[in-house]
Amino acid sequence: RMASFPYIKTLADFDWGFQPSVPRGLVEQLATLEFVDRGDNVALVGSPGVGKTHLSIAIGHEAVMARKQVYFADCSRLVEDLKHASAKEALARRMRFYEHCSLLIIDELGYLDIGKEDADLLFQLVNRRYALKRSTIATTNVPVGRWGDVFGSNVTASAVADRLCHHCAMIKITGRSYRLKDVSIGGEDG
Ligand code: ADP
Ligand code: MG
Repeated sequence: RMASFPYIKTLADFDWGFQPSVPRGLVEQLATLEFVDRGDNVALVGSPGVGKTHLSIAIGHEAVMARKQVYFADCSRLVEDLKHASAKEALARRMRFYEHCSLLIIDELGYLDIGKEDADLLFQLVNRRYALKRSTIATTNVPVGRWGDVFGSNVTASAVADRLCHHCAMIKITGRSYRLKDVSIGGEDG
């Protein structure tokens, strides 16, 4: 059961006090994995360093422990992989790989822009998972309303957002970057 997490983080490692905009009750509810059984989605939206990837891995790790099939994919790499498969006429097989797991984590959607044709491959995947009622967690630093910029097409962006945001727990994190926790910006002391 290879989930391909870049590293393991759990909810026990999460400092809730540092990031009060995270709805703890909702995240703990998600960790019960009922949303996976229902085929619902999760979107984690917020600027870099606020804990989106950490929380997605923590929930994904719970799912692995519960013996669910989980796959973690960096969005740009996922799209590159589908594009590569498409060029080799192996797209259907690759799509099936990403379709079959009961929880797919698409990390950092919007970190790099995706061309219109590549965005269409992502749409095909999200649409298939939606039809099959399989859960997806997407993390993004771009508010859903601005996904048109990422996909180079408002039509594709709305189609992807439509599938992902239906039956979805939307978690917007508005705090500071944990990576800059001990850094003071602005030159003030302490
Ligand atoms: P994002 O995906 O939102 O850019 P990450 O989840 O990668 O941010 O978080 C950056 C780093 O800070 C990671 O090592 C993560 O484990 C840690 N981190 C972020 N938020 C918290 C938090 N509230 N408590 C503990 N560690 C955190
Ligand atoms: Mg991240």
